[in-house]
Amino acid sequence: MEAAILNSRVFTGDPLKPWAEALYVQDGRVAAVGSSVEIRAACSRETSVFELPGRLVTPGIVDAHLHFVSFGLYLERVDLRDLTSIAACRERVRNATATKKRGEWIIGRGWNEHIWADRREPNSKDLDDIARDHPVMLVRCCGHTVWINSMAMKVAGITRETVDSPGARIERDAKGNPIGLCREYRKIIEKVIPPPTLEERRAAALRAQGEALRYGVTGVHTCETLAEWDALAELEAAGKLQIRVHHTLPPEEVENAGAQGIRLGKGSDRLWLGQVKLFADGTLGSSTALLHAPYADDASNTGLACMTVAEMQERVEMAYRHAGDVAVHAIGDLATTNVLAAINGARKQFPGPKRDRIEHVQLMHPADFARFRAMDVVASCQPVHLHTDMLVAEKKWGLDRCRYGYAWKSMLREGLRVQFGSDAPVEHINPLLSFHAALTRQRLDGEPKDGWFPAERLTLEETLHAFTAVPAWVSRKEVRLGSLAPGKIADLTVFAEDLAAVTPDLLPSVKVEMTIVDGEIAYRKG
Ligand SMILES: [Zn+2]
Repeated sequence: MEAAILNSRVFTGDPLKPWAEALYVQDGRVAAVGSSVEIRAACSRETSVFELPGRLVTPGIVDAHLHFVSFGLYLERVDLRDLTSIAACRERVRNATATKKRGEWIIGRGWNEHIWADRREPNSKDLDDIARDHPVMLVRCCGHTVWINSMAMKVAGITRETVDSPGARIERDAKGNPIGLCREYRKIIEKVIPPPTLEERRAAALRAQGEALRYGVTGVHTCETLAEWDALAELEAAGKLQIRVHHTLPPEEVENAGAQGIRLGKGSDRLWLGQVKLFADGTLGSSTALLHAPYADDASNTGLACMTVAEMQERVEMAYRHAGDVAVHAIGDLATTNVLAAINGARKQFPGPKRDRIEHVQLMHPADFARFRAMDVVASCQPVHLHTDMLVAEKKWGLDRCRYGYAWKSMLREGLRVQFGSDAPVEHINPLLSFHAALTRQRLDGEPKDGWFPAERLTLEETLHAFTAVPAWVSRKEVRLGSLAPGKIADLTVFAEDLAAVTPDLLPSVKVEMTIVDGEIAYRKG
């Protein structure tokens, strides 16, 4: 396709010339960027011309941390959010049984008895008459409580005799019989649910792709396993993979992948293997993020280390030995300190340019900024988490420490490379939710009025940079991707409104007009 975009606002991401009015796309590449007059002069009869006043054109938005195929699986589940009665939930489950074979699991999510007219908690009897032949698991909106039917209890082996496992509870009636409501028990039930087949993974990837393109996302960095890679590779071979996928793998799969010819840092421009994904600690919500000093609400707890620094260094060295880089999950401040130490130790054994990243970096120790920068590790963050995390962080970490919580502006000021993602399916894939959080540091209800630690608010350009140029760099593809300059691959996101002109509270509802990958329109607003 030969195309020109005219009379628009174009954020090029090119530091020498960050803004333009128009651009020309030819053979999948950006051919020229400039004023509308200049670009119009380059148009021929074959050129498709798009006059786009009032829109914002940016380099293709990349979601730099999510779980792509599981996001697609999640999209297909029975959605019980916002339903206001048990009857309405039953209706959704009944519809789902019509589309599933006998014995196939029905999984739903999002119910909330506090908004139901029934004013009571549900139980297996509410499901048994409508789903006799299907095990059903419905996860409450909090993610911690599950509502299951009798067949699910049978499949999971939950009986009168079942003893509650530590930290988990099976609710029972007066006679001690399980009633189909289990707290903190989800993992135990998920264990008996068969993993998705290759075909289901392929279908889920296509669903996730459709949703991503609709929200202007042209590329993703996904943290999954070889099973998901296989599904994506089949889609690519069939010419159905439209989105660019940077894939990571857990360390135990690196050998296996290598045996199949899938190597770290290698692949096509559509699907490639990036870093080895490691874990340093747990999460904020479960008080398992690893901290230098104890939790503010529990002086006996400093969180949980997934492994020692020496063990982590061994795994980083393994990645380096395979000519790869690492992506390490670290949420608490001590987790980040440990990861930097492990990477530093490993680099002494394996010198040479690295593109390592730390995922989440929700709490920083102020002494770590300098080391972070000196080692040129990417801080891979998800601003959207701030919407729900700010109050939890204050409670668990205390206000003093929160000064360096989700501290993206401080990171930039200290010279760190910062990239952004959604962590879907934990959050929705819509990148504008993160734009909102990064620009306002408010919740979606507009609180707090001045923003949470407002000095950490980012500008639109800084946020765009974190969704475009930095993910390209960490993929070692900055020569071809990440900005709009002549010769670069033409991945573009066209927002239907200029994000700079929208009041920030309306950002999440701005639509995407077009999503362009390789110079081809992959999504267009109807
Ligand atoms: Zn994640």
